[in-house]
Amino acid sequence: MKWLWNLIRGWGVSVTVDLPSGYVNTEVRMSLSRIQCRHTLNIARLILRADELGWAIKVCGWNRTLAEQKENVATGKSNTMNSPHLELRATDLVLFTREGVAICEGEAFRPLGEYWESLGKECRWGGRFHDPVAFKVKTGRDFDPEKDLGWDSDHFETSKEAA
Ligand SMILES: [Zn+2]
Repeated sequence: MKWLWNLIRGWGVSVTVDLPSGYVNTEVRMSLSRIQCRHTLNIARLILRADELGWAIKVCGWNRTLAEQKENVATGKSNTMNSPHLELRATDLVLFTREGVAICEGEAFRPLGEYWESLGKECRWGGRFHDPVAFKVKTGRDFDPEKDLGWDSDHFETSKEAA
């Protein structure tokens, strides 16, 4: 029956199962389809938040093919083949002023990153991504999330693990 269960989960179909009392099924998680829908809704919220803050936003990366990800790794734009962009649950944004000037400083994304994180524990902001060891070697101190910025501040993703 496991194959049938996996098939149903893959379709994103919601099923109700009566479990014996006291039984906790820790294996059941939100399907990928539902995570993708939640991600899309939260990106909409993020775009509206950017508008409130006086920014315009362009989506510059959402879904990626395997070939595109291989190219990104080969050219150093990404360091993983395990990218959430391959599963339609990560989005890269470009910020603009209302006059259409692109904002290149990663720090400008911080209010949006903090808003993104406030939407749920599954919402991960790339501005927090860092290598603690490399950071300490470079700066002589620990990463401070209040004032330091990770390497991917324009990246907003929805984690599968926390959903
Ligand atoms: Zn990204």
